[in-house]
Amino acid sequence: MFRKLRLSLFVLMVLLVTAFAYAQGNAPKHIFMFIGDGMGVAQRQIAELQINSKPGVTATSQKVRLNMNSLKILGMNTTYDSSSIVPDSASTATSLASGYKTLSGVIGMKEDKVTKVPLISEFLKQKGLSVGIISDVKIVHATPAAFYAHIDSRNKYDEIASQLIHSDFDLFVGGGGDKHFNPARREDGKDLYAEAASKGFALARTRDEFLSLKKGTKVLANLPGDVYDEALPYVMDRTGADLNLDEIVSKSIDLLSGNPKGFFMVVEGGKIDWACHANDTGAAIVNMLDLDKAIGVALAFKEKNPDTLIIVTGDHECGGLGLSMGNTYRVNPELFYSQKISHEVVDETIKTLAGKKELTEEAVFRLAEEFGLASLTEAEKTAIVKSIADEQTGDKDLIKTLYGGYRPVSMVFKRLFNTRANLYWTSYSHTGIPVMLTAEGPGADRFAGYIDNTDVCRILNTVAQAEMKW
Ligand SMILES: [Zn+2]
Repeated sequence: MFRKLRLSLFVLMVLLVTAFAYAQGNAPKHIFMFIGDGMGVAQRQIAELQINSKPGVTATSQKVRLNMNSLKILGMNTTYDSSSIVPDSASTATSLASGYKTLSGVIGMKEDKVTKVPLISEFLKQKGLSVGIISDVKIVHATPAAFYAHIDSRNKYDEIASQLIHSDFDLFVGGGGDKHFNPARREDGKDLYAEAASKGFALARTRDEFLSLKKGTKVLANLPGDVYDEALPYVMDRTGADLNLDEIVSKSIDLLSGNPKGFFMVVEGGKIDWACHANDTGAAIVNMLDLDKAIGVALAFKEKNPDTLIIVTGDHECGGLGLSMGNTYRVNPELFYSQKISHEVVDETIKTLAGKKELTEEAVFRLAEEFGLASLTEAEKTAIVKSIADEQTGDKDLIKTLYGGYRPVSMVFKRLFNTRANLYWTSYSHTGIPVMLTAEGPGADRFAGYIDNTDVCRILNTVAQAEMKW
């Protein structure tokens, strides 16, 4: 009998060792997590419809797939947080990074706003992988911050910047955000660039500086931002001095690929969310396509490195985008090919015109054309004239009620465009609509099904053998 028991134990041990070795061998060495901020199903659909359209020709099929929609495994994620069914990026990114729910506004902490939660990025770093955090908005913004910071409020940007410097991660790339690192612009006057340099970070402040960094360098790149220093400009407003996400991801792969243990790269398309808040469909589409191109770079990397896992999801939906309205069965995304500038540039131009006392109806009609609204109808002109009057009142309550707090003229431009395209935004904020997840690579099938955002982290922990415990 003892002999039998010994034999069974032996068999069990062999099985366990084999299973362990099998599992070890199957953990992905390179992990990409792409997060489209505010990116729900409708956002993924409108961008795909766009690439199946041509200027003047509406899509009649979806034969061409976005990279993100072509990944083999499909799931849906619920995104509620401890405050609301309608969550924010701080709590939802915390869920993706830690597997815990928390309150809106809180990063890397439990609902008590004191207890730090463990992060998948920290565990993968401990395991020996290099960690890179990338966003097209400032690197201290909620979503990227949730992968390296622990703080009770997402608005404590200066403190988040300090936590970034003291993290042991390998690469941070964001747009704008100088004000949280530059001693002349921080409230406490601390020089975080000098601190970063003393911690071994190579600093990059321009496109050329970033692209000339050497493999294996620890990187902090605050790339030139938009007029508010909050993010990269919208893709449609960028110049040759800016970087697109695919270029950033491509260079970041190069920088991190010296580590034989692999890397974990989080890539956020953050400004998709801002375009959705502002109901700027054209800017949202072009920024979606920017993120999708970056996913294409990861897919090309995966071709050569089959031990690569790619996950694409949103942190939450934003804007409640509806593709068709009224009782006409149509949507015309191809119209947005003619949108040449984002609402940000419209707002700046309006400010300049107002400053020079040149905010005339004719000047604004010309700006509408420049935005992409060709051949204004009389009804459209009437709506624009009202928006100029509302803008000039400077009445915050009125502007909040009628325009969600956005500047009236650019909001009316966007509404007219959306009406022409027959689509509708129900909200200036996030919504409780679940988000679509796609994945491909070792362990990807585990992410299938209707799961919660906390499970995305928990499954990744299992698949990547990060050894987090809950
Ligand atoms: Zn948002």
